[in-house]
Amino acid sequence: MSREILKDLNFLFVEDEETIQKFTSRFLDKIVNKIFVASNGEEGYNLYLKNQDKIDIIITDIHMPVMNGLDMIEKIREYSKDIPVIITTAYNETDFLKRSVQLNVSSYVIKPIDLEQLLNSLIKTAEPIVLKRQLDEAHKLVSKNEEYKRLKTIFDSQENMIAIVKDNKITKANKKLYNFFNINNLEELNKNNHIFDYFVEEPGLISMEELKQSSCWAEYIKTLSELDRIVKVENNHKNLKTFSLNIEVYLEEEDSYILTFTDITSLKEKVNLLEYQATHDNLTGIYNRNKFQQVFEKEIRRNIRYKHDLSLIIIDIDHFKLINDNYGHQIGDEVLKAIPMILQSCIREHDILARWGGEEFIILLPETNLENATKVAEKIRIKVENQKFTKRYLDLTSSFGVSSLKEDDTAENLISRADKALYKSKRSGRNLVSTL
Ligand code: GH3
Ligand code: MG
Ligand code: MG
Repeated sequence: MSREILKDLNFLFVEDEETIQKFTSRFLDKIVNKIFVASNGEEGYNLYLKNQDKIDIIITDIHMPVMNGLDMIEKIREYSKDIPVIITTAYNETDFLKRSVQLNVSSYVIKPIDLEQLLNSLIKTAEPIVLKRQLDEAHKLVSKNEEYKRLKTIFDSQENMIAIVKDNKITKANKKLYNFFNINNLEELNKNNHIFDYFVEEPGLISMEELKQSSCWAEYIKTLSELDRIVKVENNHKNLKTFSLNIEVYLEEEDSYILTFTDITSLKEKVNLLEYQATHDNLTGIYNRNKFQQVFEKEIRRNIRYKHDLSLIIIDIDHFKLINDNYGHQIGDEVLKAIPMILQSCIREHDILARWGGEEFIILLPETNLENATKVAEKIRIKVENQKFTKRYLDLTSSFGVSSLKEDDTAENLISRADKALYKSKRSGRNLVSTL
């Protein structure tokens, strides 16, 4: 994808932090036609009103003094239902997501702003706008023949796969799409009932159920935010690619739509990797503390509601510092990698295991009472005691704290009781299981 397509577009950029504002707008200034800069929602709104006919895309921060980004978009939406909005946001601001979806936000860029990511978002958002302009120009041509030739050139020069759809049938497609499906004529492609019969059903992707139930699937897709417009498409050779799908009305009078498929396969892989890194411990490969806490909060709410048994085991290796001191950090790491395997061999499939800290591990056991959780802990204790770990026998033991969910418990209470029980095991001589 090329930044070339941004050079004729005008942007409104709203950001209150001066350094970010200066840095980012200097970067944008070189790439786009014009950039209007505002320092809070109110300024942004006023600037938009004055330059409505010029501004093509809005980029805005959320938390700002005087008027925040979302309130600004809400006010701008009274004038323009369609102007694309890109939000810059910190990872943890999940509370705003629902509202931003209602406000039809096209895209998100994570803060601190990665210029490469911002650029990708801008290009992706700009593509349908630029394409639509080119098509409108082509439709103005007097001769049908000229128009046809121009359309073909426009379509075939696009980086994306493009399909024009009318009454659920593809009526036009570009070279990229023909190539991906490895076909020469549209009849082959239209053998399926719908274009979306080529979409793969998978969590996190567009739901076929919803597509089929909506009275007009194209209009339905238009209401989705960029994150919800991701599709996986399979061709006749079982090749799978991930695309961000964009829909625009093509010719209103004909009820036809233009679909653009931006290939995000490698980006999606990157996101999956980032997601993996954010939720897993990189030494042992099991869940990290963050992920555990997320799952834990959810489980606790569910179990309190249904009054089910739920237990927690915290494990801490005894005198682990001595292992590092006596054998070196590398052997220490080897031991830490071996522990989850012992733990896993003693728990059930739906028990949740995570690295809680340096040499501490935690296990959540759904549908398990205190007595049975204690038995599991005892089994682990004996296994660790008897494990050889390295070629040389390491005399290694571990201590345990076990707690079970009581009425009126919170996540913190349950953990704090297991922690206190663990402390009791340490105080009473280590290599012990205690409950509280
Ligand atoms: P106690 O029986 O009271 O738990 O004693 P301890 O030595 O196990 O406890 P302490 O908390 O004093 O020391 C924990 C040690 O674990 C210190 C730290 O260097 C080591 N550690 C933490 N994370 C890692 C890691 O990723 N790799 C290695 N090799 N060591 C680690
Ligand atoms: Mg410790
Ligand atoms: Mg320890």
